[in-house]
Amino acid sequence: MIRTMLDYNKPVPVADFDSTPFWEGCRQHRLLLQRCSACGHLRFPPSGMCPHCRSTQSKWVAATGRGRLYSWIVVRHPVPREIYAGDVPYVVALVNLEEGVRIPTNMTCAPEDLMSDMPVEVVFDDVMPNLTLPKFRPLR
Ligand code: ZN
Repeated sequence: MIRTMLDYNKPVPVADFDSTPFWEGCRQHRLLLQRCSACGHLRFPPSGMCPHCRSTQSKWVAATGRGRLYSWIVVRHPVPREIYAGDVPYVVALVNLEEGVRIPTNMTCAPEDLMSDMPVEVVFDDVMPNLTLPKFRPLR
């Protein structure tokens, strides 16, 4: 479901020079990772320089969208209340992608359905016409 900008009143990520391809990929329902052109290291979040070899050359590659749930918290107190009151409880999680990259995200399932190290897969939430958020659910 696509919501309008007026419906979606939450803080949103602001794409910068390095992260614009990632967010464009999400809009196309593709989870993209940055691969260093010099050493092959995959990284997230997007950045202008490889943390392993300091190369500034990279290309974008598609991730499988599958991984394992590394850790999570359950948010039960909406802060600020006027924005998040209708969302609690919700889950903020860290997912280890199959590619070896860890990504912060939200789980779309109920907190009681989560288990450590469970297989998960990406789902794309089209929150606004120009913004899609990558979230995760238990692998089906
Ligand atoms: Zn590198």
